[in-house]
Amino acid sequence: MITEDILVIKEVSYKENDKILHAISRNMGKIQLISKGAKKPNSHLVNVSQVFAHARCSLTISRDMYIITSAELIDNFYGLKNSMDAYFNASYILELIGYVAQENEYDRKIFDMTVSVLKFLEDCPQNYEKLVSAYELKLVSMLGYKPDFGQCISCGRQIREDALFSIKEGGLLCSGCVKYGNGINVTYGEILTLERILKTKFENIGSVEVNPRIRNLIRDYLYYYIGKDHFTTLKLI
Ligand SMILES: [Zn+2]
Repeated sequence: MITEDILVIKEVSYKENDKILHAISRNMGKIQLISKGAKKPNSHLVNVSQVFAHARCSLTISRDMYIITSAELIDNFYGLKNSMDAYFNASYILELIGYVAQENEYDRKIFDMTVSVLKFLEDCPQNYEKLVSAYELKLVSMLGYKPDFGQCISCGRQIREDALFSIKEGGLLCSGCVKYGNGINVTYGEILTLERILKTKFENIGSVEVNPRIRNLIRDYLYYYIGKDHFTTLKLI
């Protein structure tokens, strides 16, 4: 018997009464689970067998599938349904993490951050754009591609001026090194904002001014490193 925290990212109908859940787990990466009887209205697994369910489950393994024997719902982020923006962006977060997460490869920090951003989308739906950008930048950093906003990636000089942000090189080029690379012009103010987004917790993100240019830059940066830029849920936003 295994006890595991999961976040359900997709539910698929299976047999007459069962569901197969696609989830990310705190200790085992991406997993699939069979939730037996979950389609029966009186099942004790109804609540934990839905998209967005964050639950603590007891599992057994049969062949290569996990079977939920019992589960306790921690949260289902029900309040997301009160805001279309929050709901669609939360759906995008699930699609994104579902793509990024790997089987047998886990990162508890990423799991906890994902649960946390869903909570803040539910509680502060007005901050949805900033929350999603912050999540994207923190995610790509946790995946090992943390951009360096402090110094020039070519000569090492401290950046205290407008610069060129190179997505491919993962950082900034100072005015003296611009000729060595391609990138996007960013003002010193924007550089400070990017650094602030990376360091600011979700609960304080409301105080950071994030313009659309920065949001796009973060997204382009993330998509370059994860190798995907088409997410179905983004078409709904
Ligand atoms: Zn330089």
